[in-house]
Amino acid sequence: MTKNKLLIQIKDLEVTIDGKEILKGVNLEVNEGEVAVLMGPNGSGKSTLSFALMGHPKYIITKGSIIYKGENITKISPTERSKKGMFLSFQYPSEIAGVTIANFLRTALNARRKEKLNPLEFRKMLKEKMKELHFDEQFANRYLNEGFSGGEKKKAEMLQLAVLQPTLAILDETDSGTDVDALKIIGNTIKAIQKETKMTVLIITHYNRILQYLDVDKVYVMEQGKITRSGDVKLAHEIEKTGYKK
Ligand code: ADP
Ligand code: MG
Repeated sequence: MTKNKLLIQIKDLEVTIDGKEILKGVNLEVNEGEVAVLMGPNGSGKSTLSFALMGHPKYIITKGSIIYKGENITKISPTERSKKGMFLSFQYPSEIAGVTIANFLRTALNARRKEKLNPLEFRKMLKEKMKELHFDEQFANRYLNEGFSGGEKKKAEMLQLAVLQPTLAILDETDSGTDVDALKIIGNTIKAIQKETKMTVLIITHYNRILQYLDVDKVYVMEQGKITRSGDVKLAHEIEKTGYKK
């Protein structure tokens, strides 16, 4: 597949939280079907960018724009963004008491579909997905994120990706707090979904270790609220060796 059609374009984005300027003119582009990686030291603004992309009301865009599929989405609601195929996984997902993974996924999926799936149809689909991904069937009956280990939270996110099949997945530190086995599952799941759906991925990470599972097209480095460097996967390896100091 040729990967030269723009999916998302972030132009000169400035974002404040509680009046404090965090992003100071971010420019970033991801083409359809690409895997782009966003790296950077702690506190540089990576999570802020992901929340701003999804339209979190606390993150105020004071300048610049977000163009998605050729449309300026800077001002539309998070729900609308999600309906257009944008998906954000959180760095710190919250627990939802009394809601099973399966019910959560069915509600989320039906919110995006015209033809709703009934519980039985959904179960069947979920079962197939879980089999493909080598997930234990019982996993979907657990309450969302309740008592989950780091790795299990991330696995639950992977299941969300597989079921919701977003056009653009923004994955914030999907690989942190996971052991090597969970990491492998996460990496391979992203790859499998990508192969099936041509999903575009913007992955935010500190580490190179997840990148071994993915074919990375682009690497961006964020420092102090700005993109300071960009390149291909070699840049990620260079940073692994030398750190963020030039
Ligand atoms: P990263 O994800 O790159 O580690 P963040 O986007 O989480 O960075 O944070 C960027 C900066 O914004 C940090 O200086 C952080 O202290 C600040 N920040 C993040 N969230 C808030 C908030 N809710 N209120 C005030 N400042 C915040
Ligand atoms: Mg972060």
